[in-house]
Amino acid sequence: MSNSFFKPFKIFIILIIFITIFICVFFIPILPNAAYNPTNSVSFDISSSGYVWPAPGYTTINSYFGYRTSPTAGASSYHSGLDIGAPEGSTLIAVTNGTITFTGFLGGGGYTITLSSGNMKFTYCHVSPIYIVKEGDTIVQGQVIGYVGPKNVYGVKGNQYFDENGNPTNGATTGPHLHFGVRVDGEYIDPLSLF
Ligand SMILES: [Zn+2]
Repeated sequence: MSNSFFKPFKIFIILIIFITIFICVFFIPILPNAAYNPTNSVSFDISSSGYVWPAPGYTTINSYFGYRTSPTAGASSYHSGLDIGAPEGSTLIAVTNGTITFTGFLGGGGYTITLSSGNMKFTYCHVSPIYIVKEGDTIVQGQVIGYVGPKNVYGVKGNQYFDENGNPTNGATTGPHLHFGVRVDGEYIDPLSLF
């Protein structure tokens, strides 16, 4: 085999390497960030009503607000919030300015964060137990307040929720997602009405 036969092949390989480097440098940083995000702010869009979407980059609704057939034993047939599909570690942001009024494990909600603003309460359920906010913190709209949690959590006293293999789950959940609830004067409303 002569060198002249392989020369176009080598140029092709070098071209592929350069294209790969180009894609890595310029495109991968703008893909949705599924890893734990160490920064404290992300880009977001404000809806006409003034709220921002709680799970940037993730808009698949797995379950809507209202009456439904229960996906897990123990999950209410009346669904008090919106289930937004997002992988574990996805960034969760404050939909509006407010104060953190609850962080902890809350029965079917699993690990939960509650953001309060005036007569409204916003609950983020099935979140990561790695909390980056605490009760009493003042929060600005768009601030990262937590992450989507894992399906399974261990060592929670009194947790009554388990998967099909008998492993304890992060509340009533079949997999990582954000359950987002909105209360106005204590009454649950459809979160989609805000966006
Ligand atoms: Zn839900």
